[in-house]
Amino acid sequence: MNAHIVLLPGDGIGPEVVKEARLVLEAVAKRHGHQFKFTEHLLGGCAIDATGTAMPDETLAACQAADAVLLGAVGGPKWDDPAAKVRPEQGLLGLRKGMQLYANLRPVRPMPALEHISPLKPERIRGVDFLVVRELTGGLYFGARGRKGTGEDEQAFDTMIYSKSEVRRVVKLAFQLAKGRRSLVTSIDKANVLESSRLWRQVAVEVGKEFPAIKLEHQLVDSAAMRLVTHAAQFDVLVTENMFGDILTDEAAVLAGSLGLLPSASLGDGTKGLYEPIHGSAPDIAGKGIANPVGTILSAAMLLRHSLGLEKEAQEIERAVTLALEAGQHTADLGAKQPLTTSQMGQAVQQRLG
Ligand code: NAD
Repeated sequence: MNAHIVLLPGDGIGPEVVKEARLVLEAVAKRHGHQFKFTEHLLGGCAIDATGTAMPDETLAACQAADAVLLGAVGGPKWDDPAAKVRPEQGLLGLRKGMQLYANLRPVRPMPALEHISPLKPERIRGVDFLVVRELTGGLYFGARGRKGTGEDEQAFDTMIYSKSEVRRVVKLAFQLAKGRRSLVTSIDKANVLESSRLWRQVAVEVGKEFPAIKLEHQLVDSAAMRLVTHAAQFDVLVTENMFGDILTDEAAVLAGSLGLLPSASLGDGTKGLYEPIHGSAPDIAGKGIANPVGTILSAAMLLRHSLGLEKEAQEIERAVTLALEAGQHTADLGAKQPLTTSQMGQAVQQRLG
């Protein structure tokens, strides 16, 4: 297969981890006779320095024309002034909007070999394998907000607003993804209080009727937060609105033990997607060559699966990562006594492909 993949290394450890993911993708392409063309573009702080904007037009155009996009991370202390007009994360938000991505996927599958670094007891994380699907373009973060009144009567408001079509497309995606998994969708809301949640639940039930082979359950967001630390193994696919998803995905991320391990994908209609590790630019370790590239390498596997339809190759990468970690090949964030460098970890994965 021929595919054009845009790389956006970004800031901090972004370039270090993207480099390793690219090498793994090149090794997979060679093994299976695929032709991947890679082009690199600017996004985030590095783009602000070079062009004055966090997402140059040519970056968006390249991403829109490509088959898929792999991102490292954006941001860092250099661009952190809250009063600044141009900020690195604007690049990320602009890109999601420009590529019309409305669902963020975060799989969480703690590896048995790393049980000891999870903050949870081993028996609580054993068998955990779920996927959170978070709505990305609506809800509280995008509704009308403002202030009114003066003095002690001054009020601030934010609005949680969803249309049926916004809910339907993301819930539908969750059902489609559950088909290839354990056929359970947990729709998370706050329907005992919020009208937007009652609409969400109504649409989830409607969509559920189109997928009779998939079981649908509803759970309130507060009890879902508890269940994630007590009985996470019961979940398969979770789907929820933007802010609930923002909070729950961070909670879910700690189950694996290190931010450096987890991948993510942002999808819209069609196959194009944006893939990135869940961590940030880690300025405290940037330039030292010690960042864990596994989250980015697993993001590359998701890219092969969701954008290029290369399931076998995606599984090959995931298996190689598991084998490397089981063999004790660990970076510093995993508590290794003699930690591997970023590129040694990438090589440890490459060596176990196939
Ligand atoms: P962070 O994820 O960058 O770092 C948190 C901690 O985890 C740090 O101690 C870091 O060293 C460690 N860590 C993260 N990734 C690691 C890896 N791959 N290997 C080993 N250790 C790793 O979060 P932060 O410190 O809150 O944010 C730093 C910058 O990143 C900020 O400017 C923030 O805005 C930005 N950020 C960007 C994204 C993104 O690009 N999507 C996401 C989150 C934060």
